[in-house]
Amino acid sequence: MEIPFVDLKIQYQNYKTEIDKAIFDVINDSVFIKGKYVERFENEFASKCDSKYCIGVANGTDALFIILKMLGIGKGDEVITTSLSWISTSETISLTGAKPVFIDTDDYYLIDTYKIKDKITEKTKAIIPVHLYGNPCDMDKIIMIANEYKLFVIEDCAQAHFAMYNEQKVGTFSDAATFSFYPGKNLGAYGDAGAIVTNDKILAEKCRMFSNHGALHKHNHLIEGINSRLDSLQAAILLVKLNYIDEWNRKRYENAVIYNKILKSIPNVKIPKIKSKTKHIFHIYCILAEKRDYLRKYLNEKTIATQIHYPTILPLMPAYSYLNYQQKDFPKSSLFQKNILSLPMYPELKTNEIKFVCDSIKEFYEKYA
Ligand SMILES: *Cc1c(COP(=O)(O)O)cnc(C)c1O
Repeated sequence: MEIPFVDLKIQYQNYKTEIDKAIFDVINDSVFIKGKYVERFENEFASKCDSKYCIGVANGTDALFIILKMLGIGKGDEVITTSLSWISTSETISLTGAKPVFIDTDDYYLIDTYKIKDKITEKTKAIIPVHLYGNPCDMDKIIMIANEYKLFVIEDCAQAHFAMYNEQKVGTFSDAATFSFYPGKNLGAYGDAGAIVTNDKILAEKCRMFSNHGALHKHNHLIEGINSRLDSLQAAILLVKLNYIDEWNRKRYENAVIYNKILKSIPNVKIPKIKSKTKHIFHIYCILAEKRDYLRKYLNEKTIATQIHYPTILPLMPAYSYLNYQQKDFPKSSLFQKNILSLPMYPELKTNEIKFVCDSIKEFYEKYA
């Protein structure tokens, strides 16, 4: 039984008629940049996020860069974020000229809110919590700290489309939130795409302007900006997929429940913890596994694909060697680094496939533990 890590093809096959029509409608109209599909997607996405404004951009990384720039963050500033994420979260901080300040994770693989205050200085301007793997951060605590120290908060929701904290959707707790529609994300385009959502009208206008060469209207450039737009083809595809995302997220959750039920009886692995008051959307199903690298090889031989999110925590990447961080500065996440393993997870994954993955894990520990 061959089990891929994600299966984008099966999703396309299931909705082929609708998606093909969406693509050909755009080509027939031949309006590829801006226009009605982008507008429609922005409106529907904002509304589904319970947010007032949505600005479609080229990808989730640009979304972070644009919002940081438009909040006025730059040289001499510091921005606090988590040690465990994809590099977009921190490289965009550096690209504004500001300095990323990394915080260790808690047991949920999320920024440890108890360690944030220690790192706040006169230069701190913002916090970027990442709802990693689709698991919401403790937003009450983060917003409380941000209010106390007058900091901006930007939620990186790249992995957490419509996850909930306290019955409220992630992305609505902060000044602005960013989304990625990279093909493998829970809501994925057929290429790069991303979005910013916010309730702040002026901030939304600034972001839209900056992402479109600083122009409010064509040939009227109020500032210098960049070219980072969501294109019509991606918007049309995303509009179709938006109708199914709740169902897909629910199926992912159900798959996680099946994994949990079986894996919890294996003493050599730890299943992901879920906080009360949250709705995890399982972009990634991550376990802690003893002898992780051997297990991974064993599963690979059985044609079960796994991944590691992420093999090296951000502060220990060569890109940040100038910050002189050490492993002991991040006791928890640097330990996770050795044991985390992401198992196959997508809505179309079948129960017997999950069982096969779990049986193979069991078999590995029976043989080699
Ligand atoms: C995917 C991702 C991004 C970047 O999104 P792109 O669309 O690939 O630029 C940012 N942050 C996190 C946590 C991500 O997983």
